[in-house]
Amino acid sequence: MNAARADALRAPVPRIDLRSDTITRPTAGMRDAMASAEVGDDVYGDDPTVNRLQTQIAERFGFENALFFPTGTQSNLAALMSHCGRGDEYLVGQEAHTYKYEQGGAAVLGSIQPQPLENEPDGTIALERIARAIKPQDVHFPTTRLLALENTMGGRVLPLEYMREATALAHKHGLVTHLDGARIFNAIISMRIEERRAVAGFDSVSVCLSKGLGAPAGSVLLGSTTLINAARRWRKALGGGMRQSGVLAAAGLYALEHHVTRLAQDHAHAQLLGAGLAAMGLKVELPQTNILYVSIPEANIEALRACLASRGILASIAERTRLVTHLDLQRVDIESALAAFSAVFAPGVQP
Ligand SMILES: *Cc1c(COP(=O)(O)O)cnc(C)c1O
Repeated sequence: MNAARADALRAPVPRIDLRSDTITRPTAGMRDAMASAEVGDDVYGDDPTVNRLQTQIAERFGFENALFFPTGTQSNLAALMSHCGRGDEYLVGQEAHTYKYEQGGAAVLGSIQPQPLENEPDGTIALERIARAIKPQDVHFPTTRLLALENTMGGRVLPLEYMREATALAHKHGLVTHLDGARIFNAIISMRIEERRAVAGFDSVSVCLSKGLGAPAGSVLLGSTTLINAARRWRKALGGGMRQSGVLAAAGLYALEHHVTRLAQDHAHAQLLGAGLAAMGLKVELPQTNILYVSIPEANIEALRACLASRGILASIAERTRLVTHLDLQRVDIESALAAFSAVFAPGVQP
């Protein structure tokens, strides 16, 4: 498909969207891959493209097996339900996606009690805090079954050494470990390490294809064959058994081949954006990957919203504003965004 035709198929959205990396739309090459995907009924295990995606990503991350899901929320939930039984408990960061942003699915649908633990400013959970939260075997206590971590966490990359220590601590106490790696490729590119090193120590990992990688939908759960077989049953119960899903898996395969190393560009754009905002005197939490936070004085919020809207720039402006860079943003878009901010915060100064 030529680029003009692919552009025509995109909704007429504003050109510059800094709300999230989920807003990325399939590129011309990705649409071609989807259009020509070989498909079958995946509930029967018959979709060759889904099978290829699962095999390829499992191999790449050094896991025995993998399973394609429509969303990361469902992939995380199926993982938790496969690891934990009714009345078990899982340890999770207070700010973690599985705890805070997934409608409490583990508790509601999985009968798994979350034990939320405070996150440190770097996104980790202090090891002593984890150790203290693991409950002894006692008739009063739920069984603490699992430790869940997230990487990247709000765009922050968790240190490899921390991951090693935290997963070792969990295993020492007989817990299993799950990584919500929705943006693990951003961490991998930022740390310049191999996939398998980034997930070492985890019994399961959920990876999103629909964030920075730019696929229209889909996540993959990685684990042992035993875990994946259990997760396949839960996926069916959760309504996630898909039929000719090779059309979506093809987008994932395309993204794995073409959209991973380019994440470095998104990270560079976030740096550029952060530096520009800091130069206007704004308080910026400098980004490690593609997400940055900037504090907007309350008195300026309204004016900034109006200014961005008038220039067709989408951003979720709040006192702590999150800005996200991605595949659909070029350097010139970052410059336009900075020009809009400077109209409010540095009028008269050429950015
Ligand atoms: C986006 C995201 C998910 C999954 O989200 P879906 O929209 O359900 O695909 C899970 N964890 C984190 C950290 C995420 O950012």
